[in-house]
Amino acid sequence: MTAKDNKLTDEQKHKERQQKIKAKVDERIANATEERGVFVVITGNGKGKSTSGFGTILRAVGHGLKTGVVQFIKGSKWECGEMNILKQFPVEHWVMGTGFTWETQSKETDIAAAKVAWEKTKAMLSDHSIDMVLLDEMTYMVKYGYIDLDEIIEALNNRPKMQHVIITGRACHRRLLELADTVSEVQPVKHAFKAGIKAQKGLDW
Ligand code: ATP
Ligand code: MG
Repeated sequence: MTAKDNKLTDEQKHKERQQKIKAKVDERIANATEERGVFVVITGNGKGKSTSGFGTILRAVGHGLKTGVVQFIKGSKWECGEMNILKQFPVEHWVMGTGFTWETQSKETDIAAAKVAWEKTKAMLSDHSIDMVLLDEMTYMVKYGYIDLDEIIEALNNRPKMQHVIITGRACHRRLLELADTVSEVQPVKHAFKAGIKAQKGLDW
């Protein structure tokens, strides 16, 4: 057998392998026929949760969809680069307004702010004109018990059939993970902050 023959069989093998993969993928695509709103959770301790959520909102806006964003925890000192852009588009927006939970002085003020943000969220989750809702850092509201989990699940279950919802944040409650259609967990392999690099404008906020 010459080197050329060897190459041919390699190519044939590659072709056969690719054909098998394609057949499997085609079958899966043919099986996924349902169209409805998808509930996505992006959790874990690594970097990339909020950027993924805002990136998906931008993707939706790019298709002319109407979106809503509620930011549950936001550093009092930090603006959010994504929102500076998104404000120019049809995006309903609410910021809870308090700082990080470990920064704030009063639990009562936090709870009051969380309740208002939750009212805004409920309005979005029952608005048929909104195609996608991002609830950034909402997992902490459940963890700290600021918003009732049963109420959240009820609102998610009763939302418009075609509405997509994305929840981001660490330590997502098991019941929300169970309810979600898509869950991604971002794992920290490394983070610049641990090497003493402070949060950088445009990269971290
Ligand atoms: P990003 O907004 O960059 O997508 P995130 O939403 O995944 O990050 P959060 O848990 O919301 O991360 O943390 C917000 C800030 O903390 C960001 O500035 C981010 O860079 C930083 N951060 C994220 N993961 C880590 C980590 N493992 N160690 C230290 N800082 C982190
Ligand atoms: Mg985040």
